Amino acid sequence: MKTPTSTRREALSIIAGGATLAFSPACLANSKRPLSKLRFLVVSDTHLGYKNSTSAEKRWIQAAAELKSASGDLVLHLGDIVDGGREEQYEVYLREREKIGKPVYEIPGNHDPLDLFRKHIRKQVDVAVDHEWLKFVLVSNAHTDSHDGFITDAQLQWIESQCVAAKEQQQYVMLCLHVPVHSNRHPDRGWHVKPEHGQTKLYDIIACHKQQIVAMIHGHFHNGIRGWKDDDGIHEICLPAVLYNLDRGLEKQKAAGYNPLEFRPGYTMVTIDKGLMTLDYKPLGADVSINKKCEFVHDG
Ligand SMILES: [Zn+2]
Repeated sequence: MKTPTSTRREALSIIAGGATLAFSPACLANSKRPLSKLRFLVVSDTHLGYKNSTSAEKRWIQAAAELKSASGDLVLHLGDIVDGGREEQYEVYLREREKIGKPVYEIPGNHDPLDLFRKHIRKQVDVAVDHEWLKFVLVSNAHTDSHDGFITDAQLQWIESQCVAAKEQQQYVMLCLHVPVHSNRHPDRGWHVKPEHGQTKLYDIIACHKQQIVAMIHGHFHNGIRGWKDDDGIHEICLPAVLYNLDRGLEKQKAAGYNPLEFRPGYTMVTIDKGLMTLDYKPLGADVSINKKCEFVHDG
């Protein structure tokens, strides 16, 4: 695509407000073309069949109804569709999913055995979904017998190939994995991809392709919006669960990163516009209560 330099400067000045080294996305600032505003919706951790009661089903019914009328081009489900591998619950899930009327893309969580995920959701588990200028790279990193995350060498290679492809296609990447990669410990859950299970190698890949990567998003934590933005890293964010979220007192305990005080069951509306990503926390049956702005610091 051929875009005159002036257009690029215009786009840049909108993003950076005219300043050269203001907050602007390291990756998006290099765009050779103006990027359209994107909005998508993210649910996670529906845990259908939880405690053998219908409470999770009721939440999912409500969430799906809200997703149907919410504005957003597509829906991501970041894993733990059912609870404890309850196979009959995938039917419940799909029944409501049908009603959303938008494309829905799932990744498996530690409660979704891979064979059941392949049978009921999608034969090919790790896939990339292109949406306008954004490539969602969906990676299965959960095991049913652990709360930690695992990324194999073959997956790492594939992730890197997707970053390369995105660059060639003038696209950007959103990495989606159920279990967070970012190190964390008490008072956090302590669940993440440990260095020897792919964390170190994935961070190496991210460092090489940082200009191409918008953020990494996860489920698994049931902790509202819980995110980190390390000085030299990208945004890494666990998003709210539909079933329940717990207040772990992270802000009070001055844990690293951020954890806005909203823990009702809900989902997230993600908007990326003019180099800013906004996470709107939408509690079920209530108005958006949190607008978390994720800025992208310019590398210079
Ligand atoms: Zn989980």
